Amino acid sequence: MLSFTRPAVRARAQLAQIRTLADAATKKHDVVVIGGGPGGYVAAIKAAQLGFDTACIEKRGRLGGTCLNVGCIPSKALLNNSHLYHQIQHDTKKRGIDVSGVSLNVEQFQKAKATVVDQLTGGIEMLFKKNGVKYYKGNGSFVDEKTVKVDAIEGGENAVLEAENIIIATGSEVTPFPGITIDEERIVSSTGALSLKEIPKKLAIIGGGIIGLEMGSVYSRLGTEVTVIEFQDAIGASMDGEVAKTTQKFLQKQGIKFKLGTKVLSGERKGDNVHIEVENVKSGKKEQLDADVLLVAIGRRPYIEGLNAEVLGLEVDKRGRLVIDDQFRSKHEHIRVIGDVTFGPMLAHKAEEEGIAAVEYIKFGHGHVNYGNIPSVMYSHPEVAWVGQSEEQLKEAGIAYKVGKFPFIANSRAKTNLDTEGFVKFLADAETQRVLGVHIVGPNAGEMIAEAGLALEYGASTEDIARVCHAHPTLSEAFKEAALATFDKPINF
Ligand SMILES: Cc1cc2nc3c(=O)[nH]c(=O)nc-3n(C[C@H](O)[C@H](O)[C@H](O)COP(=O)(O)OP(=O)(O)OC[C@H]3O[C@@H](n4cnc5c(N)ncnc54)[C@H](O)[C@@H]3O)c2cc1C
Repeated sequence: MLSFTRPAVRARAQLAQIRTLADAATKKHDVVVIGGGPGGYVAAIKAAQLGFDTACIEKRGRLGGTCLNVGCIPSKALLNNSHLYHQIQHDTKKRGIDVSGVSLNVEQFQKAKATVVDQLTGGIEMLFKKNGVKYYKGNGSFVDEKTVKVDAIEGGENAVLEAENIIIATGSEVTPFPGITIDEERIVSSTGALSLKEIPKKLAIIGGGIIGLEMGSVYSRLGTEVTVIEFQDAIGASMDGEVAKTTQKFLQKQGIKFKLGTKVLSGERKGDNVHIEVENVKSGKKEQLDADVLLVAIGRRPYIEGLNAEVLGLEVDKRGRLVIDDQFRSKHEHIRVIGDVTFGPMLAHKAEEEGIAAVEYIKFGHGHVNYGNIPSVMYSHPEVAWVGQSEEQLKEAGIAYKVGKFPFIANSRAKTNLDTEGFVKFLADAETQRVLGVHIVGPNAGEMIAEAGLALEYGASTEDIARVCHAHPTLSEAFKEAALATFDKPINF
C-alpha cells in the first residue's frame, strides 16, 4: 500500500514517526528525583503519594543508596552477627549455657548480610511500583535547568526528562586520604571493609568516628587486633565528651587499641601487608605500624560527579556541598537539594526527613525539619546514642544547665540481661528543666533515644518525663530515673 502513496505524503508520515520516537524518549514529569538513596527514594515516594507524576533516577543499579547498599544496613548486619558470635564465645558460660565448637563461616557471614541488603533494596523497587514512581536506571545529568538526561545502565532505558521540579539527592562518597591509595583489598574504605573475604589478623583504622569504630567493633569481635588512629584527642567526633571517654574505655576493655592525638603520615601496601607511619601530634615522635588491612575512615564528602551541575552554575561551598536556602532551593528555585550532598549531618534519617519536607514545600509551600533534634547512634556494644546538645556545646553557648545521670548497673532489666555497662545522661535548662540534650551509652541506647527525641520535639521538661509511667522491668526505666535525677533524686540509685 505504501508504495502507491505519493512521495510528499510518505515523507510526512516518516517525519511524524521520527517525531513520535523523539517524543517517546522525552518524558514529562512533575517531579524528577536524581539519586535513589534514603533522601531520594523517600522524596520520590512522598511526591507520588501527594499526587505528582514522579520519576527517580539511580545509577547504582539498585535503590537504597549508600545506606542500604554499602552503609547503615550491611554494617548493622555485620555488627549484629559479630556481636552474637562474640557473645556465644565469651558470654554464655556465666549464664549457665555451655557451648562448644563455635566457629565462623566467613562466606555465610557475608551472605547473611547480602541477603538483607537484597531484600531491602528490592523492597524499595516494590514500593516504587506500589506508589507509581517511574524508576530510571542510569546516570542523570542536567541538560538545562528543566531537562535531565538519563544515560541508561544495564536494564535501563535512555531518556530525556522534562520536569517542573527537580530534587538532587546524589549523596556522598568516601573522603580519600591524601597520598594513600585505596585498593579495596588491603587498603580499604568502609565499602571494602564490609566485604572482606578473610578476617584480618591486624586491622588499622584511620579515623575514630562512628564508621571507623563500628567496623573496628565488628572485626575486634571476630578476633582481629584492631588499632584506631585518631588525630583528635578524643574519639566519636560530635559525641558528648564524657560519653566519648566512657565509650573509649568500654571499647578498650574489648581489646581495641587507640592512638589518639596521632597523625598518619603515610600508608603503603607491600604485598599482603600495609606499612603505616604515624606521628604523635604533640611530641612529634614517629612510629611504624603494620597491618594486614588498613581502613581509611576519615569521613565522607558530597558527591556530584556526572550530574553536570556546572551547566546550571549551581553554587558549591568550600566543603563541596551544594548551597541551598532554608527551603532546600538552589539558585534555581525549582531545583531542590537534600541529604548528604548538602548541609547538615550525613545521616540517613536526616536525608529522609529532608526528602519529605522538600516535597511538602513543592506541594504546600511549607515543610519542617528540626535540625536541633536529629539523633545519632553508634551501634557498638554498648550502643551510644544522643540527641540535642552536648555539655561542650552548652558551655560554649553560655547556657546554664543541670545534669542528671542514671547508671544501667542500677537498672533491673540491665541486671537480668547481665548487660549493665553505661548510663543515661540528661542535660536540662537550669531554670525551666526543659530537656536540652540526652546522651546514652548502654544497651539498646539506639532504640531508647527515640523517647528523648519526642521529649525535645514537644519541649518536655525532665519532670514531665519522670512523671510518665514506664514499664517494669525495662531499660527505659533508666531513662525515667535519669530524668528524675536531673531535677530531684533518683529512687533506685
Ligand atoms: C559504612 C557506613 C555506615 C553508615 N551507617 C549509618 C547509620 O547507621 N545510620 C545513618 O543514619 N547513616 C549511616 N550512614 C550514612 C548514610 O548512609 C547516609 O547519610 C545516607 O545514605 C545519605 O542518603 P542520601 O540519599 O543523601 O545519599 P546516598 O545514600 O549516598 O544516595 C545517593 C544515591 O544517588 C546516586 N547517584 C549519585 N549521582 C547520581 C546521578 N548523577 N544519577 C543517578 N544517580 C546518582 C548514587 O548512586 C546513590 O545511590 C552510614 C554510611 C556508611 C558509609
